[in-house]
Amino acid sequence: MAKVLCVLYDDPTDGYPTTYARDDLPAIDHYPGGQTTPTPEAVDFTPGHLLGSVSGELGLRDFLEKAGHTLVVTSDKDGTGSAFDRELADADVVISQPFWPAYLTAERIAAAKNLKLAVTAGIGSDHVDLDAAVAHGVTVAEVTYSNSISVAEHVVMMTLSLVRNYLPSHQVVLDGGWNIADCVARSYDLEGMHVGTVAAGRIGLAVLRRLAPFDVRLHYTDRHRLPREVEQELGLTFHASTAEMVPHCDVVTINAPLHPETEGLFGDKLLATMKRGAYLINTARARIVDRDAVDRALRGGQLAGYAGDVWYPQPAPADHPWRTMPHHGMTPHISGSSLSAQARYAAGTREILESWLAGRPIRDEYLIVDGGALAGTGAHSYSVTK
Ligand code: NDP
Repeated sequence: MAKVLCVLYDDPTDGYPTTYARDDLPAIDHYPGGQTTPTPEAVDFTPGHLLGSVSGELGLRDFLEKAGHTLVVTSDKDGTGSAFDRELADADVVISQPFWPAYLTAERIAAAKNLKLAVTAGIGSDHVDLDAAVAHGVTVAEVTYSNSISVAEHVVMMTLSLVRNYLPSHQVVLDGGWNIADCVARSYDLEGMHVGTVAAGRIGLAVLRRLAPFDVRLHYTDRHRLPREVEQELGLTFHASTAEMVPHCDVVTINAPLHPETEGLFGDKLLATMKRGAYLINTARARIVDRDAVDRALRGGQLAGYAGDVWYPQPAPADHPWRTMPHHGMTPHISGSSLSAQARYAAGTREILESWLAGRPIRDEYLIVDGGALAGTGAHSYSVTK
């Protein structure tokens, strides 16, 4: 029987919801490109309910306990003596979401003698030391595509919100004011602007598709070019590198994974080559940008705005400079954890557990590490040092 340790974010400050704003979710059975949404044998939760917080338990308790397994859920994940550290000692499976990552460092993996499976309920397994997972034969899986469109929608929202100066204008209303000039002195139309994405994978391409109807000029860079028909359909300009692309862009959105090639990519040097007054949106991973260089670029006017939802570490400390830098539209890490996304990645987590517990192969598209090597999606998107 397995011990499953699930690290989830805290419940709402006023308690676990008893009612919701809406009664149902749209039915979606395929992602763009044809991959099916998760196909567990059953689920024990109501889609549209809060599943990613401690009391939501990703809807896993009945399923696991009826089969004789143990489920431990905690939000206490950092620092020595955390519940995560204590429970990890004999856990077989660890599950966490990138929004509230249980950092599975090499030390923790070495100490977790029973650990066999680490599941990311969502996408992005950079909180797991993949070298250590490979070395210790730990399988790593994530629910590929489950929240890609959720993030793309967040990018579009943040792009419009920065360019049109939405958040400060909304604040004027909350403050009881009506100074139109205060609102519009930094407000522009997106129409006609040059928008570029660093990477055009699932999220980057979805962002391009969603922005195309705004009559913008679209640019991208990626390790591989998109098919010619997609470039033509969307009127895309391809650039061989990020450095070549960003001087042309009014808006840059980062949709690449964090790996050695992208870590610290947007530092003082690259930011200085952007158009003065460009906007930068990063919903990928915080460490792709230099935290303090972004702060400096906003204060000095090189960037007109920065938005995103990824921070390092997470949760961000109260004195993190991005909380107080000017012209930002940051949210906590929420873009991929809408109630719609939660229903998909909770179902995907259940599908992964059903397969793993029954000794069946996990869907290839969910696999990051398996059998002591990168596997499936991981073999394409991630790298390890050995
Ligand atoms: P995909 O794997 O579909 O796409 C990533 C793309 O990035 C691929 O086309 C890849 O190319 C390309 N790429 C990799 N390295 C570079 C580079 N150095 N320069 C340019 N392009 C590069 O991933 P997704 O679109 O699904 O997700 C992107 C990232 O977004 C994830 O890695 C994750 O960190 C983040 N994310 C954030 C979420 C949030 O809640 N904020 C939720 C989900 C994901 P190639 O195919 O050649 O490898």
